[in-house]
Amino acid sequence: MNIPLVKEAEKYLDRIAIIDQEKEFTYSDLLFTSHQIASLLLTEKQDLKEERIAYLIPSEFNHVATQWGIWRAGGISVPLCISHPLPELEYVIQDAQVSIIIAHPNFENIAKCLAENNNCRFVSTKEIASVDTLVTLPQIEISRRALILYTSGTTGKPKGVVITHKNILSQVQSLVKAWGWQESDSILHTLPLHHIHGIINVLTCALYSGAKCHLLPKFDPESVWNKIIEGKLTIYMAVPTIYVKLINYWQRCDRILREQMSAGCRKMRLMVSGSAALPVKVLQQWQEISGHFLLERYGMTEIGMALSNPLEGKRFAGYVGKPLPGVTVRLVDEQGNILKENTAGEIQIKGNNVFLEYWQKPEATEKAFKDGWFCTGDLGIIENKNYRILGRLSVDIIKTGGYKVSALEIEEVLRTHPEIKDCAVVGVKDEHWGERVCVAIIAIKDDKLTLDNLRQWAKEKLAVYKIPSKMLMVDDFPRNAMGKVMKPKIIDLFLQEEK
Ligand code: ATP
Ligand code: MG
Repeated sequence: MNIPLVKEAEKYLDRIAIIDQEKEFTYSDLLFTSHQIASLLLTEKQDLKEERIAYLIPSEFNHVATQWGIWRAGGISVPLCISHPLPELEYVIQDAQVSIIIAHPNFENIAKCLAENNNCRFVSTKEIASVDTLVTLPQIEISRRALILYTSGTTGKPKGVVITHKNILSQVQSLVKAWGWQESDSILHTLPLHHIHGIINVLTCALYSGAKCHLLPKFDPESVWNKIIEGKLTIYMAVPTIYVKLINYWQRCDRILREQMSAGCRKMRLMVSGSAALPVKVLQQWQEISGHFLLERYGMTEIGMALSNPLEGKRFAGYVGKPLPGVTVRLVDEQGNILKENTAGEIQIKGNNVFLEYWQKPEATEKAFKDGWFCTGDLGIIENKNYRILGRLSVDIIKTGGYKVSALEIEEVLRTHPEIKDCAVVGVKDEHWGERVCVAIIAIKDDKLTLDNLRQWAKEKLAVYKIPSKMLMVDDFPRNAMGKVMKPKIIDLFLQEEK
């Protein structure tokens, strides 16, 4: 068996696969360089047999070729986040029991140090070009483990999620079908390459379709807008915080430039948001600027994507649509009853998209599945046939005075306050109420808002038990590499205040 992605790439040999700093690489280049890398890794063996190979390479052609090279040599790729500090990298190297670390010259020092401390072989991407003997590659069964991706660590220590080639194929085919990916597509990639969103939805969907993927070394609003203005892109995908940054930048530009930016957006066929809840305010602002009603979808490292608004047809603000092709979704209450419309329950998932296991955590894996269904730990509801995400059972569903309230719902309401730029609602332990609803606020002008006038304003919009009883002004929220708000850290801020 050959890896499905490789088989597809062979159909598009002369087409451009990757554009990196204006340099173009064809599918044939990708196949050749990944074969060189596989040869580097297979100096003493014929098959890496699921050895874990980590790589610390920025968003560039060699990053993609390395990922493919590891797969073609039979290994499991473990992408590392280039912005993570040493202890976080070391956690991944040790947890995944990595045997080889491949690094870009800019990260050579840190990678060498990691390799030395953890008994790994070190390989520099500088070695690739000199490989002139290409080895025979092993046969790779589709059931083989392909990737270990670490969850974002939004709610605790990141967990290693093991994804097989079959999982990748299923996730990609589902999205290619749902979002109408074609050879003629051209996508701008500005997301981290150690996370499911950037790896599967953007990079791998593009490469499976024979499309072009433009890699930017890192996200910055000016470069993204410049690319959009060029008018050659057809798709863009990002997380809500990126759209907020693009909106802020647009607002600071003059009228002529703004018109060029908006015109560039209008030439594109699809703009997607996900990985965290998209505030309705952001969706509306983006629509005014770009003419695009963002397609919001829901997914996670363990399942790839599960729910999506439609490519054609009506999209609803605040909703994540319906199950994607090949993915089965159900809502279940605490007693295990399967729910119909209009009752909130845990989202559970079945399908070939669902991961194999948490790496070396059999108890965690067992706990995550019930009767063959993966339990996401997210609460959702179906309204008018569309799913709405109410948040994580662990941090977004607040239990206060016998009520269960959704932090995401309260946040949506509070964001309509004229003095609030953004907010994060959390539940803080309380002897009397179980938990108290508390809010961290990024204010437009921080001297104007008081807890009393916020509560007064909220009275007409929220049931009394949903109104925050504590407020904290912050400049920004603690966020992870995906731009996600780390709510446990916000809870700590409130607990420190109380001391
Ligand atoms: P960790 O598991 O380490 O705490 P994480 O759950 O943030 O981190 P990911 O797998 O990156 O790691 O994120 C998946 C989670 O992101 C989902 O379980 C869900 O809570 C949230 N999410 C994804 N898309 C959406 C969306 N459109 N709306 C609301 N929440 C979303
Ligand atoms: Mg998670």
